[in-house]
Amino acid sequence: MIFINTSRDSVVIYPESQKIYANISTNSLGHIKKILETKLRPFALSLIKSELSSLKKQYNFDYHNVTVRNQSSRYGSCSSRGNLNFNWQIIFFPYPQFRHILLHELTHLKIKNHSKTFWDQLAIYDPDSQKHNLWLKKEGTKLFLF
Ligand SMILES: [Zn+2]
Repeated sequence: MIFINTSRDSVVIYPESQKIYANISTNSLGHIKKILETKLRPFALSLIKSELSSLKKQYNFDYHNVTVRNQSSRYGSCSSRGNLNFNWQIIFFPYPQFRHILLHELTHLKIKNHSKTFWDQLAIYDPDSQKHNLWLKKEGTKLFLF
């Protein structure tokens, strides 16, 4: 993320080079947060949806709605009706960890708890599951913007 001080606010995303240019005209954190969230949240949702649909094709998952929120304490959740919700800021994570979060919630579609069966199933989708889980616990929230 590169911040440039200008008179007009704009946020430009370059997905290919994984760069986000934020032109911000204010030093107010609340304002900066609003500008970034307005632009990056819809982008995050489309990124998450596209990755979910490729995982769906690969493993035959069956989910309903997908939404994004800014819930600093959680990365994602899966409702009993099969609706998936993710913290939009997981798009700042390295790809394997990002994918791991999606697979975690997708695994909950069939196994609601965190039993051994759940972790074994998740490890089938993501062989580095334990490593990624540990990284998410230790490093994950450090990459959140706010
Ligand atoms: Zn879980």
